Amino acid sequence: MQNKNKAHDNILALIGNTPLVRLKNIVNGFKGTFYAKVEALNPGHSSKDRIALHIIEEAERQGILSKGDTIIETTSGNTGFSIAMVSIIKGYECILAVSSKSSQDKIDMLRAMGAKVYVCPAHVSADDPRSYYQVAKRLHEETKGSIYINQYFNELNTDAHYKSTGPEIWEQTNGEITHLVACSGTGGTISGTARYLKEQNPEIKIIGVDAFGSVLKKYHETGEFDSNEIYPYRIEGLGKNLIPSATDFEVIDEFIKVSDEESAHRAREISKTEGIFAGYTCGAVMQAVKQLHEQGVFDDKSNVVAIFPDHGSRYMSKIYSDEWMEAQGFLNDSTVEETPKVQV
Ligand code: PMP
Repeated sequence: MQNKNKAHDNILALIGNTPLVRLKNIVNGFKGTFYAKVEALNPGHSSKDRIALHIIEEAERQGILSKGDTIIETTSGNTGFSIAMVSIIKGYECILAVSSKSSQDKIDMLRAMGAKVYVCPAHVSADDPRSYYQVAKRLHEETKGSIYINQYFNELNTDAHYKSTGPEIWEQTNGEITHLVACSGTGGTISGTARYLKEQNPEIKIIGVDAFGSVLKKYHETGEFDSNEIYPYRIEGLGKNLIPSATDFEVIDEFIKVSDEESAHRAREISKTEGIFAGYTCGAVMQAVKQLHEQGVFDDKSNVVAIFPDHGSRYMSKIYSDEWMEAQGFLNDSTVEETPKVQV
């Protein structure tokens, strides 16, 4: 008998269709209109729900996955959480190789969602056998009936955002978006969303947010991989020490770099002024918007969409801990601006 009530069949039905929310206080005095695409309102609290569901369902369609099989991935946390969530509902085992840079909260959450987690050293090169890439590859080879999601080199990552995030933003802005500002890690979010948006209107400016210590911006500008650009930084999920094929550099107009410190302060400011409990990279994208405003990129007609990738609750022991902020030297800087007053 068909179920006639309004309940969802399972939690996966709630993935995508996240709200677009007007920002007012944090952009006080900026020219233009600003919106956040709040990806924390996916059931797994990040944009990665979209790719986990899309990639796994595509593997099912192709007959590669059957019940009881194992899904393996490298992840800074969010993708892992999403894969673990999808695996529970669909009946798969989930093994995750994560960077030691990931917060303990994230690692504990993955284990809470039934995943088997291997923690690998963060500051080794991608081809080092101890890196989370190599560990995942080896586990995939050793585990019968497994698939390796490989989000950095999987075109379906980009495709998930081409099919969902892009159309949603186009519709939610009535096609009036002028600028998209989004973090780039695997590049799936920005590339898939941008590809769709540029197909609707090639004039839309696409700005990627990169970290100091990452190779993406320089690669975009010169076409060269410069290992001198690489050094440790604190933001999780933003920037890269390799060139992911999931990134379509052609659809990105410009990259802008943001610092760990300013991004952390912007995230705290979003939470306090907009009531949106913001993850670290929401702060990064907001810091980029601030820098673009200071460069005079926006005018009164600008309709700017910033993608907020995840939820602040994942960073309680980091950017929302005064002790952690102090230990990084982030609370001693006299240049840090005070939180602006909320306008009512
Ligand atoms: N922010 C966070 C918190 C992330 O985990 C990621 C993914 N690594 C990103 C931003 C970047 O998204 P993408 O991988 O789609 O470029």
